[in-house]
Amino acid sequence: MITVRDAQQTVLKKIHRLKPEQVDLLGSLGRVVAEPIFAKRDQPPWDNSAMDGFAVSSRDIGKTPVILKVIGEIAAGGLSRGPVKPGEAVRIMTGAPLPEGANAVVRIEDTDPLDGKKVKILRQVISGENVRNRGEDVTSGEMVISEGTLIGPAEVGMMASVGRAWVRVYRRPRVAILATGDELVDPGEQPEPHQIMNSNAYALAAQVTEAGGKPVLLGIARDEHKDLADKLEAGRNTDVILISGGVSVGKYDFVKDVLSQMGVHLSFWKVAMKPGHPLVFGTLQSSSVYGLPGNPVSTMVTFEQFVRPALLKMAGHEAIFRPTIRAVLKEPFHKKDGKTHFVRAQVMKEEEMYFVRALRNQSSGVLSSMVRSNGLIIVSDTVQEISDGEKVLVQLLDKRLHGQAVPGF
Ligand code: AMP
Ligand code: MG
Repeated sequence: MITVRDAQQTVLKKIHRLKPEQVDLLGSLGRVVAEPIFAKRDQPPWDNSAMDGFAVSSRDIGKTPVILKVIGEIAAGGLSRGPVKPGEAVRIMTGAPLPEGANAVVRIEDTDPLDGKKVKILRQVISGENVRNRGEDVTSGEMVISEGTLIGPAEVGMMASVGRAWVRVYRRPRVAILATGDELVDPGEQPEPHQIMNSNAYALAAQVTEAGGKPVLLGIARDEHKDLADKLEAGRNTDVILISGGVSVGKYDFVKDVLSQMGVHLSFWKVAMKPGHPLVFGTLQSSSVYGLPGNPVSTMVTFEQFVRPALLKMAGHEAIFRPTIRAVLKEPFHKKDGKTHFVRAQVMKEEEMYFVRALRNQSSGVLSSMVRSNGLIIVSDTVQEISDGEKVLVQLLDKRLHGQAVPGF
């Protein structure tokens, strides 16, 4: 049986970045840039005023107060005026180009505008004061965003600032999701007494979306070869196929057989982990196929460990793993087997220290434990006993662990 680490490496070795596509600037948020972005001109394009005030030559203002002649005004968007000669000033607004002959701006608060034709300067300025220099943000030809950068709001702003209306980003993986099981019905349908809800397909679709992929729901396949094979056909042109259930050793667990018949090249079908022991991974031409165990917690936890990093890698991300922290264990933990355990847990932060408590019910069928946990304690295969007070590794699930400050900082 393969270890979690080896299984993860096997998967990631077979996964490659998808081809880039072009998207509108606003559609690029959360995507990864597939090209370097360059500035075509200096930013700002000219020296300009950082304040509302009067553009002057600092040499003119020796002793204050001094009275200067106002020869005109420039608003943002206006063309440069000038030249400003000795004894003169130009009324200037924030962002307007600095007129020729001026090298500083006196803030309006430091002046007495008199009758509008003249201004009394009350405070000395030095050369360059309240002036934003041409190219101080970016210079023409400079690379402002490198290939591989995750696009956040600042990157969107920067691309707009250099005039880009579109950008090339790595494509989002399309992920087919097939639930299997004679016992399943979809939400919205009325379950018969012997039936349960298909929750896995929806949890998986949400996980795919959260990881930046596009879920394609293939429905529910009954536990028989033909229905499985037929429904899987619909997923052939996707980048990833996820199947939940039917991968164990039950009499009606046919997924592995059907995948082999379809020509899927299987890499492994058991991983030494809990939850999630039966886990199939294979490749079919350029797509990858995961047979995830059907128990709702196992499905979600195996997705977290193997599928999420793969989807992020496909979409060009470099940070593909969830963050981990070290937290003080509140109660002792023990296990008997030599598997890696992912223990659903509640992490809390007290005075800059993390503490963690495992949830009591670790059954892989108890989906409510996923709702109540915000982290997974990772207990490695070689460890069996951990005392309370020891520090353990915790994978943080995105559940707003850090909360929010009151009143907002
Ligand atoms: P299996 O891996 O098919 O043997 O399923 C293991 C357990 O998970 C069984 O109790 C199933 O009823 C349950 N299960 C399988 N698929 C789903 C699903 N899509 N939604 C909820 N539970 C499921
Ligand atoms: Mg089943």
